[in-house]
Amino acid sequence: MMSDAFYDVLVIGAGPTGLACAIDAQRAGFNVVCVDKGCLCNSLFHYPSNMTFFTTPELLEIGSMPFSSPNQKPNRNEALEYYRKVAEHYQLNVLQYHTVEAVQGRDGEFTVHTTDRFGRNLHLRARKLIVATGYYDLPNYLGIQGEDLAKVEHYYHEPHPYFGMNVLVIGGKNSAAIAALDLWRHGAKVTLVHRGAELHRHIKYWIKPDIENRIKNGEIDAFFEATVQTITEDSVTLRTPRGEVTLANDFVFALTGYHPDFSFLERLGVRLDEENDRCPVCDPGSLESNVPGIYLAGVIVAGERTNEIFIENGRFHGKLIADSLRSKLLLQPPIELPAVSV
Ligand SMILES: Cc1cc2nc3c(=O)[nH]c(=O)nc-3n(C[C@H](O)[C@H](O)[C@H](O)COP(=O)(O)OP(=O)(O)OC[C@H]3O[C@@H](n4cnc5c(N)ncnc54)[C@H](O)[C@@H]3O)c2cc1C
Repeated sequence: MMSDAFYDVLVIGAGPTGLACAIDAQRAGFNVVCVDKGCLCNSLFHYPSNMTFFTTPELLEIGSMPFSSPNQKPNRNEALEYYRKVAEHYQLNVLQYHTVEAVQGRDGEFTVHTTDRFGRNLHLRARKLIVATGYYDLPNYLGIQGEDLAKVEHYYHEPHPYFGMNVLVIGGKNSAAIAALDLWRHGAKVTLVHRGAELHRHIKYWIKPDIENRIKNGEIDAFFEATVQTITEDSVTLRTPRGEVTLANDFVFALTGYHPDFSFLERLGVRLDEENDRCPVCDPGSLESNVPGIYLAGVIVAGERTNEIFIENGRFHGKLIADSLRSKLLLQPPIELPAVSV
């Protein structure tokens, strides 16, 4: 179905960055729609249920709206509530549960093709596009035997289902450390396996001593410089410096990171700089990509370096883009469109 509306700006992704971009474009006087494959702030919604942000509330603020929290660092529920309030306050037009599959057309007259949860198609038209699709939808798979078993997860939500179970956590960064600690604190028998010689130096300063002490005390078993060779229904086999080790196992959390949807960007015509961690080509001043009229925002701007841009700094991308939109859109007369087919 073709929507009647013709938007000045269509933002793909309603995460913190996409919302910030929508607010800045709206404040600049443009007619904006934000489209998300899931719910508002879909990635944050899928974070561990009890997670606490690493950032103090004011660094997560968008649209100059204060984020007050009784806690030094807010939790996931507070952040979700804050972003809902922001969307409400600015009366943002957010189309949820519509996956953007493809884009046709050119600068000034794009058609965006979406599919909803029931496989129905919708076509939306816009003069400019902002892509703020994040990186949390695509896990970095290990490519090992058994990774496709139902007991292997790439996202950690909550500890209760794993009480008394043998759980292997793969990874050596924040997500793995936080999941291992949470699981152990709620009665799971946890083993951590990491290919590095020690936990990653970027683990937050209040988490690192906690996990290190749990390992030192033997409360969480850990294998370093070790990799997982195979996963079966009842066991895992690790390759360790002391040789092969097979452990009884009920569940595996492979928390080895995520990556942006590079093929989606390429389908839009956005070039990736293969010499520079697959950073999409864009003007650093305006964030307009090599495709005129398509802007990039948030974590995707840093390509594979997904720990370089987060909410704290990605939230300012909207301002750069709005400045560019202001100078370009106001010069570009709206296109006269033919009658709409439904
Ligand atoms: C456990 C954890 C803790 C973190 N803690 C912090 C912290 O304390 N401070 C901080 O600054 N950062 C933190 N981060 C990082 C931060 O959450 C991300 O960098 C941030 O979410 C990026 O924002 P974004 O809007 O660019 O992307 P996202 O929040 O990932 O939003 C992208 C949106 O695009 C949608 N989307 C994707 N593809 C499509 C499509 N084809 N069609 C329609 N919609 C699509 C997704 O559903 C999603 O809602 C944390 C990350 C994790 C995993």
